[in-house]
Amino acid sequence: MGDDRERAWQDAALAVLGLFLPVACVGCGTPDRALCRACRSVLDARGRRVRLVAGVRLDAAFEYEGLVRTLLLELKLRGRVDLSRHLGVRLGALVRTALAESPPGTVLLRVPPSRRGARRRGFDPVVVLLARGGVRRPRSLQRVRSPDGVTPHAAGAGQKERTAVERVAATVGTLRAVRVAGRDVVLVDDVVTTGVTMAEAVRAVHAAGGRVVRCVAVASVDG
Ligand SMILES: [Zn+2]
Repeated sequence: MGDDRERAWQDAALAVLGLFLPVACVGCGTPDRALCRACRSVLDARGRRVRLVAGVRLDAAFEYEGLVRTLLLELKLRGRVDLSRHLGVRLGALVRTALAESPPGTVLLRVPPSRRGARRRGFDPVVVLLARGGVRRPRSLQRVRSPDGVTPHAAGAGQKERTAVERVAATVGTLRAVRVAGRDVVLVDDVVTTGVTMAEAVRAVHAAGGRVVRCVAVASVDG
């Protein structure tokens, strides 16, 4: 009840602000606010997705399509951190569930952004989303530089132009896990498309003597 009243008050405050700072909903274009109430309830009604990546269960808060895809692209490409709350809250809930269902002492590790992405944005979308979901300062896997200073992952063509085999070959060895020997690990990333990057994260944890008990993502491309 108190929560409803607070939300109603926030809506009213934002409606007043909207008079001075008119914005359109990214979901439907309604000249209202960044994400209108109708679009928010569409998001809230969407169920979690479950699939396997490298033999590990992946829980994704959403399928990567439509409004979810738009929100993530606005966050990642345009720095719209104001849109991260609804996705972040769902991600945080999934992470907490994953940790609660895992053995005590399970470590949460995030998949780091590509060096290029991190440089361009100046922020890590996974960290922003987790913070919105109440998960602070998750430890990160490390990106590994090849001897010439270029990450193998960033070299050459983009992921889409490559065959699956080329993608896997270019990704193996790009991540490293530390301080996970003998530990259970939950991995978290923003979007899982082909699953190649998440599979590399699983490989890196296993190579360091850890065990991945679950993967979590905001959104997944369902095959
Ligand atoms: Zn809308």
